[in-house]
Amino acid sequence: MPKKTLIAACAAALALIVAVFVVSWAILFHSFSNIEAEEARQSTVRARLALQTEARELQVVAQDNGQWDESYAYVQGERPTFVDDNLGRKALDPLDVQLIWLFDDSGRALVKLTTHNAPAGKLTELSPETLRTLGRYAKVLAPDSGPVPTARLMRLPDGVIVFSAVRVRRTDRLGPGIATLVFGRYLDAAIVRRIEAASQTPVNLIVFDERGVAETALPEPVTNWLRSAGSRTPQKAADDTFVLTRRGPTLASYALLRDIEGRPVLLLVNEVSRVALQLGKRTIMWIVVVLAAGFAVLVAVLLTQLNKSWRARVLAQRQWLEQQRKMSRLARRDSLTGLPNRVHLQRVLPRLLKRAQRERSPLALLYIDLDHFKNVNDSLGHRSGDKLLATIAQRLRSCVAAHDLVVRMGGDEFVVVVMLLPDEKVVNSIAERITAALALPMDVDGVRMAVSPSIGISVFPEDGSDPEQLLKQADIALYHAKDRGRGHHQFFTPELNTRLRERVELEQAMRRALEGNEFSVAYQPCYDLQSRRVVSLEALIRWRGPDGSFIPPSRFIPVAEESGLIVEIGAWVLRDVCLQLSEWQRAHVPLVPVSVNISVRQLEQVPLANIVSGLAQELGIDADLLHFEITESAAMQNSEQHLGSLQALRRLGSRILIDDFGTGYSSLSYLKHLPIDTLKIDRAFVRDMVSDANDAAIVRAIVAVAKSLGLQLVAEGIESAEQLDSLAALGCECGQGFYLSPPLAADSCAALLWQLRGQPRGADHRLRLLNPSA
Ligand code: C2E
Ligand code: MG
Ligand code: MG
Repeated sequence: MPKKTLIAACAAALALIVAVFVVSWAILFHSFSNIEAEEARQSTVRARLALQTEARELQVVAQDNGQWDESYAYVQGERPTFVDDNLGRKALDPLDVQLIWLFDDSGRALVKLTTHNAPAGKLTELSPETLRTLGRYAKVLAPDSGPVPTARLMRLPDGVIVFSAVRVRRTDRLGPGIATLVFGRYLDAAIVRRIEAASQTPVNLIVFDERGVAETALPEPVTNWLRSAGSRTPQKAADDTFVLTRRGPTLASYALLRDIEGRPVLLLVNEVSRVALQLGKRTIMWIVVVLAAGFAVLVAVLLTQLNKSWRARVLAQRQWLEQQRKMSRLARRDSLTGLPNRVHLQRVLPRLLKRAQRERSPLALLYIDLDHFKNVNDSLGHRSGDKLLATIAQRLRSCVAAHDLVVRMGGDEFVVVVMLLPDEKVVNSIAERITAALALPMDVDGVRMAVSPSIGISVFPEDGSDPEQLLKQADIALYHAKDRGRGHHQFFTPELNTRLRERVELEQAMRRALEGNEFSVAYQPCYDLQSRRVVSLEALIRWRGPDGSFIPPSRFIPVAEESGLIVEIGAWVLRDVCLQLSEWQRAHVPLVPVSVNISVRQLEQVPLANIVSGLAQELGIDADLLHFEITESAAMQNSEQHLGSLQALRRLGSRILIDDFGTGYSSLSYLKHLPIDTLKIDRAFVRDMVSDANDAAIVRAIVAVAKSLGLQLVAEGIESAEQLDSLAALGCECGQGFYLSPPLAADSCAALLWQLRGQPRGADHRLRLLNPSA
């Protein structure tokens, strides 16, 4: 059960218990109070009736003695022994008559006796004060007929009496009364006992004095009631009854009793014990206790259950969290190197940047890419590649401080975050340190190897303030570092960004150009410098944008190389050249071989020899009509791997030319190993050989090398007759250049081939520019 529901249920149950308690208490108090008040009132009624009974008894006795010929005769003076004979203690005590007063109509007291305070067995005379008081009442004594008054009371100096008065007549009651006989009883303990027995409640009688003041102190509500009740004449008996509810265990009912003149004379107090209420209270208390106990048990059970499920939930939650933490730790670590991975970097870099900002110290992000790592995997296998990566990771870690971060981003890419730098210049030395550390040979499965890293660097806060941006800037810098040749490090600058954007745009434009047929091929003739005949053509790609603008190969070929698009472009050029050759062949144009420039990427990625033989077969041309030019620097890269591709091409009858010779590599030993036929002297040497003795010496040396290795020699970029003559004089066999012919459109080239067919041109060898814009 949810905690909230449980709390709500408990609160509701508690509220219910309290409500039950309050409501039952109120109902109980109200109804029991009513019942008990009624009970008290009934007791008072019974007490009043008991008093009335007392009066009635006296009435009977008084009638027996007063309406009797004997007493009649006594009043008339004829029966002087009447009193002694009939009204002695023996006769009176059983009837509990304590006062006898007989007076004639003139007010003369004939008998005035009382047992009150009299010696045992005797009667005494009433005191003069008592007689005076009785005399005052004489006027209002009720006649002897009619109903007996509720309480016939008189206050005498020595106490209150209940009495009855009858007229003295003959036994036959025919004549008029001649005197009045009053019998009375003092309200003493015996009467109180009788009243108590009748009312079944304890009774207390409180007497008022002459001034109407009670002989004992009364509760204030009773005094107030008496004040108003005492002054008025009651309409009925109940008007003189008042019930006082006390807080204690009893309830009191007061009845005001008046004398025959209507003055308050006695207060009858009935004390009713509140048994019902006490019982009710006890019952309710028990109900509440039982409910509360039930509730407590319920709460305890629920709490135990809740506690159990809560503990289980806490345990499950803790286990889940631990699992999550473990998974997160694993997800943030590279299993191969043990280094944190890209996910971790993304998580912590914002925090590291904040810290750098707080401590106002620069932070540098070094994006490292291993140069030609693919070759390691290709040549030694992935297992060795993995081992090498693990060693590299250790080296990187040892190059930086413990608080710096080394991350493997994936593949052969790493990121090093260096912090707490005194200044940015330190970053340079860290990059150099990393390069030097990786340059030290590493032993992998018995093979010693070293790697060179390209490093792009962005610095916080100069190059950006958010992690994404800094990573991007470092990546851009890395791109340019690679572009500069491998093994370099490059700091990010905004210009790099612009250059990169331009490159990206150029790349996209190239893709569109491939689809939109914007490329074409121009052909530059290559001449035999002795015979002045065209011995071959060089196919050169041309790109005219949709707006008619000319984009030179020097601009887009490097970008195509970098992006890999050169493979597609190269394939297109090859096919176009083959199509042209087949077209010329069909038109019987005197054919010469065509040199196609190829990129090292083509050698690496496609089975070039297969493609060439396929095309030759498809289009019906001889494969040996195709020559291939590869730049010296490209030929040097991984010459072993290229060797096979070049040999395969050669087996087809194709020739291999080393382009831009003299600019690429210092060692010439590769010339021995590669299957090459021709060297093309870079036009930089040709340009200055007439004016610069050094360049002339280099050209001479190249001629010597070519001769000694049995290689054909072609000079590029001949722009003047002097250059041509000098080259011819040095023994260079062939030449190419604007002086001889610019690159020509295919049609113009065909015309030229027709024109020059077999004709030596002598001194007039320069050609008319058939199509200067080509
Ligand atoms: P390259 O293979 O060395 O081509 C010769 C370049 O020299 C051509 O430039 C050509 O127009 C230029 N040239 C010819 N005679 C003279 C001269 O007398 N003086 C001067 N200053 N230049 C001369 P282009 O066509 O702009 O090509 C530049 C480079 O682009 C080529 O150098 C080649 O490396 C590359 N390239 C051109 N077409 C292709 C292609 O289809 N595939 C590949 N991979 N590279 C190509
Ligand atoms: Mg070339
Ligand atoms: Mg060249």
